Amino acid sequence: MNDNPYYVPGIPEDETKDHIVIAEGLGGLVKCIAINTTETIRNICDIHKTSSSASCALGRFVTGSLLISESMKRPTDKQTTILRGSGPLGGITCVTEYGYKVRAYPLENDIPTEYYRPGKVNVSAAVGEGTLTVIRDIGLKEPYVGSTELISGEIAEDFTYYLAKSEQTPSIVSLGVLIEKGEVTHSGGLMIQLLPGAGEKEISYLEARAKEFPEISFLQQEGFTPAKILDLFMGDPDLKYLSGSPVSFECTCSKYRMSEGLIALGRKELEELVKDGEGIDTQCHFCNKSYHFTPEDIEELIRSC
Ligand SMILES: [Zn+2]
Repeated sequence: MNDNPYYVPGIPEDETKDHIVIAEGLGGLVKCIAINTTETIRNICDIHKTSSSASCALGRFVTGSLLISESMKRPTDKQTTILRGSGPLGGITCVTEYGYKVRAYPLENDIPTEYYRPGKVNVSAAVGEGTLTVIRDIGLKEPYVGSTELISGEIAEDFTYYLAKSEQTPSIVSLGVLIEKGEVTHSGGLMIQLLPGAGEKEISYLEARAKEFPEISFLQQEGFTPAKILDLFMGDPDLKYLSGSPVSFECTCSKYRMSEGLIALGRKELEELVKDGEGIDTQCHFCNKSYHFTPEDIEELIRSC
C-alpha cells in the first residue's frame, strides 16, 4: 500500500521529470489524462533552434500528440501527427512511439513571434489555416488515417475538433507552454474524454470545471504534477489513478534507416552519386544528426537495390 494520495503506478520516482498520468473519474464515465512535457519540449526546441512562437506551437502540438497517443498498446505501435498551415511556421511533423517516446520537427524554425499580451504568444498567427492529420499504425492491415481542418490554429481547439469529428470522441483538451527569455520553462497538457454511458450530467459538470480552470503552465509553475492537475480539474473524491509512464524525446534514426531513404532514390540516381566520388551526407529531420555515405557505401546499396 502506498499512502501518498497522488501515487500513480509507473511514473518516475522523481515526480518533476516528464510523465503522463491516466485516471478515471465520475464513477468510471470519464477518462482523464494529464502530462508534463517540459524537458521533452525543451530538448526538441533546442535541437531545432526555434523562435518563441515556433517553440510554443511545437510544444502544444507535441503535447497534444502525446495525449491522443494513449491508445497505443504494443511495442511496434506508432502514431504520426501532421500539422500543415498557411502561416510562417508551415507545419510540424511529430512521431510518437510506444512508451511515449516522441520526436518532431517544424517546417520553419526561426519565425517572428506575435503576442496577444506580454508573455502570451499568438500561436494561430504562426500556424494559419490548414489541416491536422493523424496516422496511427497499430498493427491493423491498413494504418488508421484521420484528418480535419484547423478551426483556430491555437492547437488545443484543433485537437478537440479533430477528436470530435474524426474519432467521434467528445473531449476537452488544454495545452500550455510557457516561454521565458526564449526558453521553454513549462509545458504540459490535459485531456478529458467521455466514456460510453456518460450523459448530459457529466458534460455540464465538465464544462463548468473547464470554464474556471487555470492555464496548465501556470499550475506547473506552482508545482502541480499531472496527478494533482487532474485532481484539481475533476474535483472528484473518487478519482482513480490507473497508470503512468515517463515521457521522453527519442529519435530512432540510424545509418541503416537513412540508407532506406537513399535506396528509394533508385539505382540510376545512386550510380550518379558513386561517379561523383564524394559520397553524400544525409541529415535526420528529427534530430539533425548527419550520416555520411561514402561511394563504397553507395555501391553496397546499389547491390541491394
Ligand atoms: Zn534522428
